[in-house]
Amino acid sequence: SMASPALLMRVVASAYSVAEKAATIVRNVMSAGDLGIVEKAGPSDLQTKADRLAQMSICASLARKFPKVTIIGEEELPTNDVTEDLIEDGHCEEILKKPCPAQYTGIKEEELVIWVDPLDGTKEYTEGLLDHVTVLIGIAYGGKAIAGVINQPYYNYEAGANAVLGRTIWGVLGMGAFGFQLTEAPAGKHIVITTRSHSSALVNECITALNPDSVIRVGGAGNKIIQLIEGKASAYVFASPGCKKWDTCAPEAILCAVGGKITDIRGNAFQYNKEVKHMNSAGVLATLRNYDYYASRIPNTVKESLVP
Ligand code: AMP
Ligand code: MG
Ligand code: MG
Repeated sequence: SMASPALLMRVVASAYSVAEKAATIVRNVMSAGDLGIVEKAGPSDLQTKADRLAQMSICASLARKFPKVTIIGEEELPTNDVTEDLIEDGHCEEILKKPCPAQYTGIKEEELVIWVDPLDGTKEYTEGLLDHVTVLIGIAYGGKAIAGVINQPYYNYEAGANAVLGRTIWGVLGMGAFGFQLTEAPAGKHIVITTRSHSSALVNECITALNPDSVIRVGGAGNKIIQLIEGKASAYVFASPGCKKWDTCAPEAILCAVGGKITDIRGNAFQYNKEVKHMNSAGVLATLRNYDYYASRIPNTVKESLVP
């Protein structure tokens, strides 16, 4: 007889549906037209009604199903009761059918930490660069990102009315990642991808030192990791604080599930236990292949300017 699915697979299967619900919220807020923009730390650090509603939906839906899991969301929100229309109780049946990697079958609820970025790329969302936006749900165990869901609500939005709008990418370490076509960047070309709206002298100094063939500037940590796994860019380089654990957890799990690597600019792994500092103070360096090529070319002066 079939044993009941492992907790990790049930969490990923639910996170898949919860991320789809959040994506619907993100699209609905935009079509309704009132974004309700609030400045957090400043004009480049925004929150909209979509960030707020999507986070309430994701966190309340997952907490109801998995009450002992620690869930950490980006937005600070009043602890009002969430209305029932925001709750998603479905799951992806296809994910539940897949076997859990053996090393994760014994995980208990209390041992999981879920990092939620309800809308990554908010600045770009407010500027109509809609395909930069992602919903990120990252799952950590033992301080490590082991599974993740990235929903891209506006995938295909420029492909015409007949194209299916939006997609969900998911992955588990030891299993792989699904919902996209894994593609390597052009061999021998160095295409660096970085921030569009959070640049600085140090960010640019670091990229210049890598002497890339080209530089792509787009919003979103989730978006940039998608570009790596689809072969559009060869390295995500961000020599600055600003990126947080909810930005990197889901992307890290998916990137690593297909053999990629992500660290801070100094080469340190990110930790995702619940007590960890949220800020990735020493920046981000990520690749699908050839991590060492880029890591070995980051100037020491840049590394020394970023304190973990
Ligand atoms: P970006 O590549 O600029 O889209 O940044 C990736 C993620 O890190 C997004 O969630 C940004 O909001 C966040 N981030 C990066 N730099 C900053 C910053 N200086 N202030 C606030 N958030 C930042
Ligand atoms: Mg973000
Ligand atoms: Mg966000």
